Amino acid sequence: MASMAPVLCCRNITKRFGSATLAVDDVSFSLNEGDLLGLLGPSGCGKTTLLRLVAGFERPDAGEIELAGQTICGGGQWVPPERRRVGVVFQDYALFPHLSVMENVSFGLKQLYRRGELPKKQIKHLAGEAIALVGLSEMTRRYPHELSGGQQQRVALARALAPKPPLILLDEPFSNLDVQVRLYLRQEVRDILKNIGASGIFVTHDQEEALAIADKVAVMSEGQLAQLDAPEEIYQNPASRFVAEFVTQANFVKAVRSGDRWDTVLGRARGIPGEGDLMVGQEDLKLSVDEQGDCVVQARQFLGREYQYSLLMPSDQVLQVRTAASQRLAVGERVSVRLDCERVRFFPKDGEPVILGRRKKSAV
Ligand code: ADP
Ligand code: MG
Repeated sequence: MASMAPVLCCRNITKRFGSATLAVDDVSFSLNEGDLLGLLGPSGCGKTTLLRLVAGFERPDAGEIELAGQTICGGGQWVPPERRRVGVVFQDYALFPHLSVMENVSFGLKQLYRRGELPKKQIKHLAGEAIALVGLSEMTRRYPHELSGGQQQRVALARALAPKPPLILLDEPFSNLDVQVRLYLRQEVRDILKNIGASGIFVTHDQEEALAIADKVAVMSEGQLAQLDAPEEIYQNPASRFVAEFVTQANFVKAVRSGDRWDTVLGRARGIPGEGDLMVGQEDLKLSVDEQGDCVVQARQFLGREYQYSLLMPSDQVLQVRTAASQRLAVGERVSVRLDCERVRFFPKDGEPVILGRRKKSAV
């Protein structure tokens, strides 16, 4: 069983590019051994920079990084990237085109051998083991151009895993693959890393991907760590409006005071502790066909197991709603909308989100 010791500790890491760009802004987190951390955030929020800082391809302006109990950066220490025991998988595979699968995977091992850090006979053994792990034992003599994108990415993974580093970093490893390959390869990569108890960080801008395969998800926004939690926790209890919008793609419905009540486009509510927005999940709304209804189906997407509807509200706000595939509504149809969940999250204008319980009879 994996111990719970942190394999990686980042403390107050900051990285600027020039004077204008604060790419990573005072980020602190630790990663437990055997855990897979999904680093999630929109393009340009600093994910790659953070990964490159851990790998040693960038130097931070401030902060410390500890890997497997050793300070690799900060406090006067600097371990160069080739001496950091970190395996890296890039989005574009970065395989050597003129080398076979076996030679690609052996490449880093040979460097370790030349530095006297690995006995020669271990090169073939470790490379073979890593290639078997990713299911390519039949293809060791092939060249990258003789492999599919998914197979090339598996070679890149084998190359990263071969020296058995305590930490694997993967930067958008599935982004260049078509959707079917991406879906099965991400599960396969997770299984491979889990089976050998590897610790890893993988970067993605895809919410679903992060939630699906990570043990913990770190959400980044503009260089800062917005939330780090288990996937379920991030989804159900987003710590900020940004996390809620980016991860859950929920609706936000304005609550406006009217006497001692609050009006929202979904009806009236009590007990809202100040001005702000209600977060309403796409699956928390129930629709019924209603000629008198004040919402109109504006768009429909069939997603296989469910439909996604865009509803135009009288307020001109568009709500996104997911229903079972059995509820087929036509574009242009009038519907009424009802909130169907036990609790709603309220995001006040200032301050922390709060959870509001719903009494049966209240409108919201
Ligand atoms: P992400 O991987 O989340 O898309 P990056 O870490 O690549 O984001 O970039 C974060 C910010 O830092 C962006 O504003 C980007 O333009 C900037 N940046 C990244 N690398 C460099 C660099 N080498 N020189 C200057 N700016 C950079
Ligand atoms: Mg990036």
